[in-house]
Amino acid sequence: MSKEKQQLDTQIVSLGRDKKWSQGVVNPPVYRASTVIFDTMDDMRHAIKHKANGEMFYGRRGTPTHFAFQSAIAELEGGVGTALYPSGSAAISGTLLSLLKAGDHLLMVDSTYEPTRALCDNILAGFGVETTYYDPMIGADIELLIRPNTKVLFLESPGSITMEVQDVPTLAAIAHQHGLSVVLDNTWASPINCRPFDMGVDISIQAATKYIVGHSDVMMGTATANEEHWDKLRENSYLLGQCTSPDDVYLAARGLRTLGVRMAQHEKNALLIANWLAERAEVDHVRHPAFATCPGHEFFKRDFSGANGLFSFVLKQGNLKATTAFVENMQHFKMGFSWGGYESLILAVSGIDSIRTATPWDSTKPLIRLHIGLEDPQDLIADLEAAFERFHAVLS
Ligand SMILES: *Cc1c(COP(=O)(O)O)cnc(C)c1O
Repeated sequence: MSKEKQQLDTQIVSLGRDKKWSQGVVNPPVYRASTVIFDTMDDMRHAIKHKANGEMFYGRRGTPTHFAFQSAIAELEGGVGTALYPSGSAAISGTLLSLLKAGDHLLMVDSTYEPTRALCDNILAGFGVETTYYDPMIGADIELLIRPNTKVLFLESPGSITMEVQDVPTLAAIAHQHGLSVVLDNTWASPINCRPFDMGVDISIQAATKYIVGHSDVMMGTATANEEHWDKLRENSYLLGQCTSPDDVYLAARGLRTLGVRMAQHEKNALLIANWLAERAEVDHVRHPAFATCPGHEFFKRDFSGANGLFSFVLKQGNLKATTAFVENMQHFKMGFSWGGYESLILAVSGIDSIRTATPWDSTKPLIRLHIGLEDPQDLIADLEAAFERFHAVLS
């Protein structure tokens, strides 16, 4: 294990457990609060002055349960402060609403999470913000899309279905030359497998629902900002009324403690299964960032320190009936949205070509997305073997 990795594991265990929050027990407890009570006018004035600095002021600004978790995420991501939201989608909408106003232009990656695209096309468009979708592999040509009113460059790397890894440092450097803010949906890496702020990102978003929570039982989002963006992000998240239940934050903080070991096991199991799939005659190619067949593989090698359990594979041929037979009646893989929990999930994804507008997609070849959980990978391989048999039975 590398020295850096060892230090990270130590950080995961110790961050956010300062005695000022925990009062001496191992885990900072659940503080539920709306009203905070002050003894004197002086105390109240002090609280007003320090309301943004992790002191109790009013429930919506958080309690020590929140402050402890926020400080852990901010440090792991490498930013100066973290705002909490009731879901990953709320973190995305809260961040974009905080940065954009009527008449502004947004550059959004074409491979983005579908609800993020719907937010742009529906809510942001209604507020007079125009969105241009760009090819995730555009690289330096992003400059050609920047207009005088472009304010934000939004990245998601890798995309959570088609898995293109973006050249984040190049894109961020060009965006900054034009005064744009750079926002990254960093959910796939989690806060431990890349250094968004070293790559020039201004705000890094996590759907904490996924690997941070890790147990498929809490919705939560985080947005972590650098010095330049933190005050505005924090105050605007407050104005937008964004807050999270301390019980949920407690569970997210509990999930965080095992993030390192879970990610290592997800990565190991997923690589084993991805390698097995790559050898199958039915498989056209594997879209796992650690594979040369994944667009942007070179950026994964350069910018990431590890992978996780989420990847896709594309079949050489098939139809809806055959992929339905593939994904139904699995023994271990469950069918459902989301990922990042301890359990394996499977999705047959169709209609990708109808979602994209900047890049072509060949929908004649079916795509299947897997989230590899913590089960024994040999059981998962047996499950997939049976799925291929059902698939062939329909096709032949
Ligand atoms: C799931 C997901 C989100 C949204 O998170 P929710 O907590 O489900 O709202 C955002 N981005 C990516 C990449 C995701 O996978």
